[in-house]
Parts: sequence; structure tokens; C-alpha cells
Amino acid sequence: MQEVAPGVFVATAEPYVTTTTVVAGADGGCLVIDPAVTVAELDAIASWLSARGLRPVAGWSTHPHWDHLLWSRSLGDAPRYATPRAAGVAARELARMAGRVESEAPGHDLALFARVTPLSGEVIGWRGPRAVVLAHDAHAPGHGAVFLPDTGVLVAGDMCSDIEMPLLDTDAADGDPFGGYRHGLGVLAAAAGVRVVVPGHGHPGDAAEFRRRVTADLAYLDAVQAGRNVADERLAAAPQWLLAEHDRQRALGGGEPTSPPSPEQTTG
Ligand SMILES: [Zn+2]
Repeated sequence: MQEVAPGVFVATAEPYVTTTTVVAGADGGCLVIDPAVTVAELDAIASWLSARGLRPVAGWSTHPHWDHLLWSRSLGDAPRYATPRAAGVAARELARMAGRVESEAPGHDLALFARVTPLSGEVIGWRGPRAVVLAHDAHAPGHGAVFLPDTGVLVAGDMCSDIEMPLLDTDAADGDPFGGYRHGLGVLAAAAGVRVVVPGHGHPGDAAEFRRRVTADLAYLDAVQAGRNVADERLAAAPQWLLAEHDRQRALGGGEPTSPPSPEQTTG
């Protein structure tokens, strides 16, 4: 566990360099965001919490992807929330995502998987630092980052990563995954006073690093959408599955042809 700001702790799981964020609140209560990934890792988080005298009183899932909807008996039975759109998708996709859990992180109690309640309003109601939900539809429908204004920590969900380029919601309901992603980045970038960014996969960064990642993400989107070559350092070290996603996104990019067709081609 790394304390990224007073009372805000980040654990990093091995699969996909996935983070879990814990926010300490009043009377030993804590808010647990996206606990992940394996059964052993969730149990280790629960042990760490009880050793520090912390007890989950609320859970938050940033978005409806299987690795952000996990829970464990050892974390107790606190209410767990997501944005209304995310909770709707989690309910609809429950069976399919439970299959992913079984294949990628077997052994979880599936009766606890993805059991999130839609949060009404934009603030998580709990006795602890104010936790503001920044909702948008980049990466996944109803993606809800959590901003803690007191400490300036932005728990970004699957955005603003140092190891993953933007991953679009290619099934975006409005058919504009690039526009939706840009809008989502804008929502995050507009949060005043971000001092620490915690990505769902990757490593926490400071304010300057947050700005750098937003800029890099926008450059990636522009290049891919225009069909240009992408110079993004995250691709250099990317695993095979991430490169496959990159190729899928490139195929979505309209991209102007590099040179206009010659007369021979058009008439031939
Ligand atoms: Zn995701």
C-alpha cells in the first residue's frame, strides 16, 4: 500500500497493474474503490485494512468492466455504488462478465460480483472526505471517476494511465467513441486542483504528470482518428492484447488517404 496523500492509499495488483484505492474516513470507516484483482489480492487488502483498524463502509466501482466490479466477503457487506448508467450495464452484462472473472481470476464468490447500487447525485454519501463523482461515457458507459477535493486526489478509473493508451468504448451508443473520449478527458481536466492522479491500471502521478497524460491521450486520439501514424511511448512496451486494441481503434479511425488517387487509378 502506497499512501499517495494523507489518508488515501493505493494497492497495486499484479494482473494488468490494476490499482485499488482506499480512502480513510471517520471512526475507522473507509471507502474502497475498485478492489482488485485475484481472491488472494482482495484478502490481502482486507487483512491490511483490519491491521490498520479500517473497515469498509462504502464501495465504489468506477465502471462496468469485470476487473472493477469485484468484492470479497473479507471486505464486509458495505453498500457498493456506481453511476446509474454503469449499474445498469453491470446488471445487464452480469453473466458475460462473470465468465471473464471465472477465466481470469477464478475463485471469487460470484454472488458478490457486480452487485452495485445506482448512486443518485454526484457525491458519495459517507462519513469521510468529500468524494465527488465525475461521470462521463469515455472508455465505458457511465464511467465515474472520483475526485477528493480535500487532498486533490483524482481516482481516474481506466483513464489517464502511464501504461495504457486510451481505450475507447467502441460500442458507444452515440456512435462517436472518439468524441465521447475527448469529452470524458475534458471532464477530468476541468477538475480544479488535481494534485495526484490514480489510474485504474498503471502508476499514480503528480499534477504535472496528470497534465502530461491528458495531453498524450488527446494526441493519441487525434492521430488515430485521422489515420496518422501514432507516436505514443506507451505502445512501445505494450503487451499483445493492448496492441490488438490499438489496431482495432486504428481501424475505426476515418483517416484521410495519404495521397489522392492518381487519374490512372480512378479511371482504371
Ligand atoms: Zn475498463
